[in-house]
Amino acid sequence: MRLLEWQGREIFERAGIPVPPGALVKSPQEARRVAERLGGPVVLKAQVPVGGRGKAGGIKLAATPIQAEELAGTLLGARLKGVPVEALLAVRAAEIRSEHYLGITIDRDSRQPVFIYSPSGGVDIEEVARTRPEAVAKVPIPPLEGLYPFRLRRLFALAPAHLRKELFRLAGKLYGVFLEYECNLVEINPLAETEEGLLALDAKVIIDDDHRPGEQFSGLAEAAEDPLEAEAKEAGLSFVRLDGDVGIIGNGAGLVMATLDLVVQAGGQPANFLDIGGGARAERVQKAVELVARSGQAKVLLVNVFGGITRCDEVARGIVEATGVLGIPVVVRLTGTNEREGKEILARAGLVPVDTMEEGAAQAVALAKGGG
Ligand code: GDP
Ligand code: MN
Repeated sequence: MRLLEWQGREIFERAGIPVPPGALVKSPQEARRVAERLGGPVVLKAQVPVGGRGKAGGIKLAATPIQAEELAGTLLGARLKGVPVEALLAVRAAEIRSEHYLGITIDRDSRQPVFIYSPSGGVDIEEVARTRPEAVAKVPIPPLEGLYPFRLRRLFALAPAHLRKELFRLAGKLYGVFLEYECNLVEINPLAETEEGLLALDAKVIIDDDHRPGEQFSGLAEAAEDPLEAEAKEAGLSFVRLDGDVGIIGNGAGLVMATLDLVVQAGGQPANFLDIGGGARAERVQKAVELVARSGQAKVLLVNVFGGITRCDEVARGIVEATGVLGIPVVVRLTGTNEREGKEILARAGLVPVDTMEEGAAQAVALAKGGG
């Protein structure tokens, strides 16, 4: 369960992790009142359970209460990566001296929590780790041992000396949150150095789905789920949102993962993982295509189906039914049970399937890049 920023921020606050003053708002008028109360410029932040809001236009700086009202009006009701924006966090804008990254996640290789720190925060940490691995420190914490100071000293070796003491304190509190809420991830990015010291300007908290939350969580779960992922689950589909622009539908997790790999190998980036499962009828396929269309990210859809108990004619019918709402090109690879019928249905709708997955991936990536 991924919490929204305001929920994660509330947990941080309770744990004594400093956050800028602010409030959750649901109307432009409220945004204006909060801005008046805070005094000075405010940052308005769309509360949607997807990352990279800054780049997607979901974070706005308002210099005055009037401007806060105007900007809140444009953000509220709009969609960010296909998710309607229903609430904003309005916080006092901080004067940032430097941006850091601090997070804890589970390292699946060593099967223990790992602390991650970088003095180059505020940007995509995976990108920093890829281009400048020396700027990212990772220190595993053996869970039975607790948080020994020597591990934190290693973690913060890259930190400016004047911030180390504060970082130590903060890391202890963050580790407390990680354990208490049974998280898969807690992340502060950016952790900003300001005049008043370090401030958590963003809060990302993912609670393990097998954790049975107590009282303190009531009402959080529904609010935090990606509405498209929830809708998919209800329709019996596994849908996971990713960051790229090639929409992918397949049957079976293995085939879908192989398709993701092929798209990456062909130089593309998957927009989602979508498994229609075994034996899907046309309606479920149609629903899957609609979800990809509504996620608002994909520039092309690649359907890769191996017919076993799933029948190619049902898949083709579902695709054809949904083409009206799709609005993007679709590349289809179909093979197996009722393949000939499926291909005929596609042909009647003017769709020409490709013969191999490799061909499909290459064509989809070319279309996403605008080449065709
Ligand atoms: P994300 O893009 O979804 O991770 O959203 P963030 O909450 O991390 O905000 C994106 C970026 O906006 C941050 O990396 C900061 O650079 C900037 N930002 C957020 N809050 C403030 C603020 O109070 N003051 C200033 N100057 N920049 C901010
Ligand atoms: Mn962030």
